[in-house]
Amino acid sequence: MAKKTSAKKPPATAKAKTTKPAAKAGAKKGAGARKYVYFFGHGKAEGSRHMKDLLGGKGSGLAEMTNAGLPVPPGLTISTEACTLYYEGGKKTPKVVDDQMIAALKKLEQTAGAALGSPDHPLLVSVRSGAKFSMPGMMDTILNLGLNDTTVEGLKARTGNGRFAYDSYRRFIQMFGNVVLEIPKSAFEHEFDGVKAERRARLDTDLDEAALKDVVARYKKVVRAKAGRGFPQDPLEQLRMSRDAVFRSWQNPRAKEYRRIYEIPDHIGTAVNVQMMVFGNTGNRSATGVGFTRNPANGAKEFYGEFLVNAQGEDVVAGIRTPQPIGELQSVLPQAYRELRQFTTRLEKHYKDVQDFEFTIQDERLYMLQTRSGKRTGYAAVVIATDLVKEKLVKPEEAVLLVDPESLSQLLSPIFDPAEWKKFAAVTRGLPASPGAASGQVVFTADRAVEWAQQGKKVVLVRKETVPDDIHGMFMAQGVLTATGGMTSHAAVVGRQMGKPSVVGAGELEVNERAQTITVAGRTLKEGDWLSFDGLSGEVKIGQVATQPSEILQVVAGQMKPEASDIFQRFNRLLTWADKVRRMGIRANADQPDQAETAYAFGARGIGLCRTEHMFFGEGRIPIVQRMILADNEKDRRKALDELLPLQRNDFYGVFKAMHGTPVTIRTIDPPLHEFLPKREDLMVEVAKLEVAGGNEQALAEKRKLLRRVEQLHEFNPMLGHRGVRLGITYPEITEMQTRAIIEAACMLAKEGVKCQPEIMIPLVGLVKELRDQAAIVHRVAAEVFKAQGVKVKYLVGTMIEVPRGSVTAGEIAAEAEFFSFGTNDLTQLTFGFSRDDIGKFLSVYQSKKILERDPFASLDTVGVGELVRMGCERGRQTRPDLKLGVCGEHGGDPSSIHFFEKVGLNYVSCSPYRVPVARLAAAQAALNVKVGD
Ligand code: PEP
Ligand code: MG
Repeated sequence: MAKKTSAKKPPATAKAKTTKPAAKAGAKKGAGARKYVYFFGHGKAEGSRHMKDLLGGKGSGLAEMTNAGLPVPPGLTISTEACTLYYEGGKKTPKVVDDQMIAALKKLEQTAGAALGSPDHPLLVSVRSGAKFSMPGMMDTILNLGLNDTTVEGLKARTGNGRFAYDSYRRFIQMFGNVVLEIPKSAFEHEFDGVKAERRARLDTDLDEAALKDVVARYKKVVRAKAGRGFPQDPLEQLRMSRDAVFRSWQNPRAKEYRRIYEIPDHIGTAVNVQMMVFGNTGNRSATGVGFTRNPANGAKEFYGEFLVNAQGEDVVAGIRTPQPIGELQSVLPQAYRELRQFTTRLEKHYKDVQDFEFTIQDERLYMLQTRSGKRTGYAAVVIATDLVKEKLVKPEEAVLLVDPESLSQLLSPIFDPAEWKKFAAVTRGLPASPGAASGQVVFTADRAVEWAQQGKKVVLVRKETVPDDIHGMFMAQGVLTATGGMTSHAAVVGRQMGKPSVVGAGELEVNERAQTITVAGRTLKEGDWLSFDGLSGEVKIGQVATQPSEILQVVAGQMKPEASDIFQRFNRLLTWADKVRRMGIRANADQPDQAETAYAFGARGIGLCRTEHMFFGEGRIPIVQRMILADNEKDRRKALDELLPLQRNDFYGVFKAMHGTPVTIRTIDPPLHEFLPKREDLMVEVAKLEVAGGNEQALAEKRKLLRRVEQLHEFNPMLGHRGVRLGITYPEITEMQTRAIIEAACMLAKEGVKCQPEIMIPLVGLVKELRDQAAIVHRVAAEVFKAQGVKVKYLVGTMIEVPRGSVTAGEIAAEAEFFSFGTNDLTQLTFGFSRDDIGKFLSVYQSKKILERDPFASLDTVGVGELVRMGCERGRQTRPDLKLGVCGEHGGDPSSIHFFEKVGLNYVSCSPYRVPVARLAAAQAALNVKVGD
C-alpha cells in the first residue's frame, strides 16, 4: 500500500485494566524464543502480506491492512507453526505459545482500552481460523468471547442496550458450546425455539432482553447437562479453549475433505486470529457485509457484494437471511459506503488483484475485517486478468499468474443449447452464483448425490441452504440450487470455486427436505425428477435440457468466428501471454487427424504421442489386424500387413498435415496382441453354439482356430508380458510396416511441399539392445523408402522411458536414442508395482489412511517416480547433450506435475487435446516459478 491514511481509532477507550491471569503470567518471551504470536493494531503490525505461510491468508491480510492505515480492529495472530506444535504435543498448546499469546493480549488490551473480563470495560474478541489457503466455512469461528455473567452487564451499561448485550451473550454460549464443547447445535436451537414459542415470537428479533436472559439461562443448563461442566466464566479459559478448538477444527472431516479435493497439504495447519470485536448488530446504524471488488462469477468490473443491517458477520455467510445488494448501502449508510469503496479500490490496486473483503459498520463507523484475493470462476478469472492488463494495473506476465490453470477447463464445459432452453418456461429465478449449465435428477442430500452419481446418474443437489458438510455432494453433482442465501453464501462460494453451476437464493422454491419435495410455480417435484438451471442467468426450469459445447469449443471447432466470442478472444490473449513466458513446449497426445486438428487449434505445437494401435480399431480394420495376429507364418503375416500399410499411411498423412510442420511422435505398436482379439469366454460360447447347431463346419473350424490362438496368447500379466518393443522384436515385420507407412506419408507431403517432422518412438525399452534392434529396422526401411521415392525427409528415432531400467540405464540408451519421452503412466505402474487398472480397489483406503495423499497416476509422485525421471534426464543428457526430452504420460496435463517437469528441464509436455490450454498456462507459471495460490 503506497499511501497511508490516518487510522481510525477503536471505539472510545477507557484506561485499560488487565485481567488477573494475563497480568500475572507476565509473558516474557525468553531470549531467542521463536516467535509464534504476531500483534497488529494502531497502524502497525508485526506481520505483512508476505507471511501467508506463517500467518495464514486472514492474518497476513489483517497485518497488511493495518500497516496501510486502514481501520482494522486490533488483534493478534497465532501462527500456523503453533498449530503444528499443538498437534506434535498431543493436542496441547505449549507454554511458550501461551506465554506469547498473553503478552500480545496485554498489548491488545492497552490498544483497545478495554480488558478481558473487566466489568466496566470488557474486551470482547473473535477467535477465527485462517490457513494459508482459504477454506471457506470449513473451520470454526467463535465470536463475542469474553462475555460472562459479569461482563454482559458491563456491555449493557456501555452500550445502553440490554437486548444487544444478552443477544451477544447467548450467541457466544451457543457458538462456544457447539465448537469447543461439541454440543450439537440442535440442543441450543431447541431451547431457543422453546422461548420463542412461549413468548409467541415470530422472529428472533421479537425477543426482548428478558426473553434473551431466559435463553442464556437455558443455554447454560444445556452446557451443564451435555458437557458435564458449567459454562466457563473465566475469559482467559474461554480464550485458551477456543484457540485449541480452532486448531482442532483443522482436522474436522469437512476441512479434511476440502483439502483432499483442493489438494491442500495436511501438514501446513491453520493460524488463529484473536481480534477485538466490533458489532454490526448494535442497531440500525450498524451493519455487516462481504464483497468483491469485481464480480467473481462473470468478472465484470462492478462493486459487488451484500450486507445485512443489524447483524453479525456469520449471518451473511450462513445464508440464513437473504442479504441486500451492496449498492443499497449507499442510501442506508452513505459515509461508510464511500469509505468502503475507497478502501477496497486501494486494496485492489495494492494487491494487483480482485479482493474479497469483509467489513462491519458499528454505529456508522466502518471496520475492515478481512481482505484476500477473491475466489472466482474460471470465466471470471480470464475476464479479470485481461481487464487488469487493459487497465494497466498488471503486466501481461503478472496476469498469467492470476488464473488457476485447472479453472480453464470450466470454460470448456457445456452450456445449454439456446433453442432447447427456450422451449422450457422458467419456473423461477435465483441468484446466478456460478456459471454453467446443470441438468440432472433432483436429490436432496449430499450423500444421495454421491450415491447416485457413482451409479452414473446425473444429479442436481437441491437444498434449502447448503452447509459446509455438503461439500462431497456438491462435488459430485452437476450443479447446486438453493432456496436461501446470497451470492456469497457458502453454496455460492464453494460452487464458484469448484466451477459447479450454482444458483442460490431462489426464494420461490419451497424445499421440504423432510418430505423430499420441491414446490414451485404450483408444481411439485420429488427425488429423481429432472431439473435444469443456468448458473449465468439464474433461471430454473423443470425438465431435462440438452447442453452444447461452450463458446470456446465452438470457435475451436470452427463453428463460430473468433470475433463473435469475447471470451474466446480473452482466453486466447491470456494464453498468448503465457506462451511468451513459458520455456517448455506443449504437445498433444492425439491419434487421429481430427484430434490433431483440435489440439493444434488449442495451441499444441507438436504431437508427443500418437498411439498407432488406436488406428487399428478404425472401421473395417480389425479383421485385417486379426488376420495378421492369427497368421502362423511370416508370409501370411506380411500379407495382412500389406493391407494395413495404405491405411496407416493415410492416417499418418492426415496427422502430419493437421500439425502444420510441427514435430509428430509416432509410437510403434504397444499393447499385447490379445487386445485385438475377441474375449476367450465369448469365443467359447460361440464355439459351443455352433457345435450344438451343427452343419457349418467351416465356421466352426475358424472359430476353433481363433479360440486356440486366443488361448496361446493368453498371459497372466499382460501388462508385463508380450507388449511394447517385445512385439517389434518378435515380429519385426510389424515395425517394418509401420516405419514404411510413416516415412512414405512424410515423403508424400515432402513432394507436395508440405513440411513435416516425424519422430519414431519405440515403447517400453529397458535394454539398449532392444532399441538398437528396432532402430536398425527403422533406418533400413527409411533408406529403402527414400531411394524408391527419390526424396528424403529428416526424421528422428527415440524411445519411451517407462520401465525403471530404462531410467537407470538412460546413459546407455541415449547412445541409440535421439529423444526420450517419459511414459509416466507405465513408469508409475512399474515403480510402485501398482497396476494402472486395479489401483481403484485400494486407492481410496490409501488416501483415507494418508498412506498416499494423491493418486500417483493423476499427479506425479515426484519423490519416487519423479526421481527416476530426473535420473533419466541427467544420465541421458550426459551421453547426448542435445537429447530431446518430453513426457507423454497423463501427468503431462497436470499442473503440479508440470512444475516438476519444468524443474528437471524437459523440452516439452504432451497431454490430451482438451488439456492443452491448462498445460500452456501451467508451463508459464512453472517458468515463472510461481504456483497460483502461493
Ligand atoms: C505411458 O505409459 O505413460 C504412456 C504414455 O503409454 P501408455 O499410456 O500408452 O501405456
Ligand atoms: Mg506406456
